[in-house]
Amino acid sequence: MSKIARRDFINGTLVAAGASMFPFKSSSQAVIAALEPSYYPPALTGLRGSHPGSNEHAHNRAWTRQTDWGSTTDLKEEYDLVVVGGGISGLSAAYFYQQQHGRDKKVLILDNHDDFGGHAKRNEHTINGFTRISYGGSQSLVQPNHAHEIVRKLLEDIGVNLDRFKTAYDTDFFKRHNLGAVTYFNKKVFGEDKVVQHPYCNYPNYVEGLQGAKLSSEEAAQQAPLSDSGKEQLLRVLNGGLHKLKVPKEELLNYTRTHLYFDYLKDTLGVNDPGVLRMARHSGLDWGSTGTELMSIAAARSCGALGFAPVAVYDEDNPYIHHFPDGNAGVARALVKWLIPGVARGNSAEELVLAKFNYAGLDKSSNTARIRLNSTVVKVEHIDEPRNSSDVSINYINDNKSYQVHAKGVVMACYNMIIPHIVSGLPEEQSAALKLQDKSPLQYTTVGLRNWRAMKALGIGVAMSPGNMHQTVLMDFPVSMGGYEYTKTSDDPCVIQMISCPYGKFGEPRREQFREARYRMLGLQFNDYEQEIRSHLSGMFPRGLFDFDRDVASISVNRWAHGYSDGGPGDSTRIGRQPFGRITIANCDSAASSDAKTAMMMGHRAVNELG
Ligand SMILES: Cc1cc2nc3c(=O)[nH]c(=O)nc-3n(C[C@H](O)[C@H](O)[C@H](O)COP(=O)(O)OP(=O)(O)OC[C@H]3O[C@@H](n4cnc5c(N)ncnc54)[C@H](O)[C@@H]3O)c2cc1C
Repeated sequence: MSKIARRDFINGTLVAAGASMFPFKSSSQAVIAALEPSYYPPALTGLRGSHPGSNEHAHNRAWTRQTDWGSTTDLKEEYDLVVVGGGISGLSAAYFYQQQHGRDKKVLILDNHDDFGGHAKRNEHTINGFTRISYGGSQSLVQPNHAHEIVRKLLEDIGVNLDRFKTAYDTDFFKRHNLGAVTYFNKKVFGEDKVVQHPYCNYPNYVEGLQGAKLSSEEAAQQAPLSDSGKEQLLRVLNGGLHKLKVPKEELLNYTRTHLYFDYLKDTLGVNDPGVLRMARHSGLDWGSTGTELMSIAAARSCGALGFAPVAVYDEDNPYIHHFPDGNAGVARALVKWLIPGVARGNSAEELVLAKFNYAGLDKSSNTARIRLNSTVVKVEHIDEPRNSSDVSINYINDNKSYQVHAKGVVMACYNMIIPHIVSGLPEEQSAALKLQDKSPLQYTTVGLRNWRAMKALGIGVAMSPGNMHQTVLMDFPVSMGGYEYTKTSDDPCVIQMISCPYGKFGEPRREQFREARYRMLGLQFNDYEQEIRSHLSGMFPRGLFDFDRDVASISVNRWAHGYSDGGPGDSTRIGRQPFGRITIANCDSAASSDAKTAMMMGHRAVNELG
């Protein structure tokens, strides 16, 4: 029996002794009672991300059209603004609103999760008495030096110093420990467990400082556990490129945009080996949100899929170093601190890295900004005709009970496709457009290791794993700041990341694949994931150096059934995000983008539209 710490949730059931399912003090006014002082979701392990208990009400609303939530308690709370969704976009909307209208304006943020931040999720693992911090979703600020002035000002106001990452991120870490990009082939799919010192693709290149491949293409092809013909084909792909296409130069660009990467592999390079095709399919991981079989040659080339020369992922002014130890949760926490100054100690985002947030202080009636967690909004409605209404009612479910609050305006910063199921009276065209928006599933699993000797012995900074659920395993980013020290030696505890971009049936349209993969993901239990992680790590690491039960201290499986925004067809994203009376629409989805900077900009736009 495993000794893995998932002490808090097992498939959605809070099992800590003496704890109730919901961490509110028992009271007839449960929802306005404070959270327990011990309430601290970042330290929970097990199934995280969109954790069990967070999405059932929204799914009931969308899937079964549920409208009867029992009797509703009107809390007689009136706000200037209610924000639905406490991710970076919703938190930013609250910030912009108070910036523009005054910090005395009353704002309530409602979120269905047990933590704030949405995709920007902090994971803490306690290993051998040490707290290791990691990220369960939104990872880094991408190219922040290209950010709009509005975003830069927000970051400055909440105490994010972008220059600080130049020294906080230890660029030499991978060199010092000789860690690079490798590929793990598993026995089940490739016939033997084998690690080859080559990534066969560009994906790991986004990790700043990571060492390059240690083998030539010839050696890498030779060492891959494939048949002789498979090895030959792999080498042909590695030596391939656009020069292999018999297309006139002036037509090449158009050709690569209109022809499939997999047709190029099969027809131009003569690949039919299932192992090579599998490596190719998984070589873009989440960069296109689907397997590369749906990509054009141009798209596969731009993400450096199998056989394309490495390309720079980010420009020189924007190295991929803008990463708090908890990823963009560091930004979310800084926003929350700005909104509710008493919630934690610290004068800058850096000083908040180790701060223990007082969740019991998030929803105090004395705050001008309040955050109410575990609260799924199921109905938002203008009390009068939308154009003239100055009163919007917001119904939400908390601990299976229905509550109502009122606001002068509402920003919907939640997943956009749920909005037509929640907002009453939306124009037909807008409602239809919102229903067309989509998101791809994604999973970030964080694993607390008591030591990382096995990673070091194999020189693994990033291990592409085309045969596994988690297509890559990587060291966490080497960032030390605010008193937090990244792991120094391989004898120390650390957190490794395992990333899974689940695909659907090969060749199916992307949305079909998203749907299939999403259902499959939500259908799995923690034990299924633990089993998969056990077999992945045990197959990859040398037996003498790694013992799963001995070396793995804790696992957090952050499942994002609705992960990257994928937008909708044609003009539907723009049509969908139009203001509707006193209700406006934010979230990354409203720009069909998956970027924290855009999430902020969408919060800004939505607040401006409210006037
Ligand atoms: C695994 C992963 C990694 C990523 N990595 C990066 C990265 O490195 N850099 C980057 O810039 N971006 C990254 N992103 C993109 C990420 O989406 C954005 O950075 C940003 O965090 C999105 O913020 P948001 O507020 O728009 O949406 P979200 O974070 O999704 O927040 C929306 C919130 O609304 C809640 N909600 C939904 N419905 C309801 C309801 N009915 N009632 C109440 N609340 C509701 C949701 O549950 C969620 O908490 C990543 C995304 C994922 C999934």
